Amino acid sequence: MEPLNFPKNFLDFHRIFPSEAACLQYLEQLRWPVGFTCEKCGAVGEPYRIAPRPRLLKCRFCLHETSVTAGTVMHRTRTPLLIWFWASYLVATQTPGISALEIQKKLGIQRYETAFQLLHKLRAAMVRPARDLIGAEWPLEMDTTFLVHRLISSAVDFGNLTFQPLGFSRFSFRL
Ligand SMILES: [Zn+2]
Repeated sequence: MEPLNFPKNFLDFHRIFPSEAACLQYLEQLRWPVGFTCEKCGAVGEPYRIAPRPRLLKCRFCLHETSVTAGTVMHRTRTPLLIWFWASYLVATQTPGISALEIQKKLGIQRYETAFQLLHKLRAAMVRPARDLIGAEWPLEMDTTFLVHRLISSAVDFGNLTFQPLGFSRFSFRL
């Protein structure tokens, strides 16, 4: 598995995250890219794995238990990680966003409240504290944009807006 590759489409997502175990493995690789390290005693090495509680890893030296989801929005949740991962993907990729009702329907979540809580936590986690605020310094915000091909062969001026091609589907905008 390549942990930092973002799925390009639904099939890609399903290929990378086919199961609950794949989601767990992904989180574990993100948290301990060079192998499990005990947060209590600092020991490095393969932990004990507890079959009925697959989110828990137990240090072989001091027996300290660590949850793979500790420190994430998924900590102590009873909702399957696969649902969280799908919801995260939908929230991050749907334009112009997705409602709790849509999340509930698309992922087959029984209770609306569960979908609402899940979406609320994801949205809160997606806000960067040091985000660039739109205002005097950053007056332009753009979403999905289509430009005809011949316009990307060279820099194009539209009044006070300049499109500078950087490669396929990438532009810089200068006001
Ligand atoms: Zn330990």
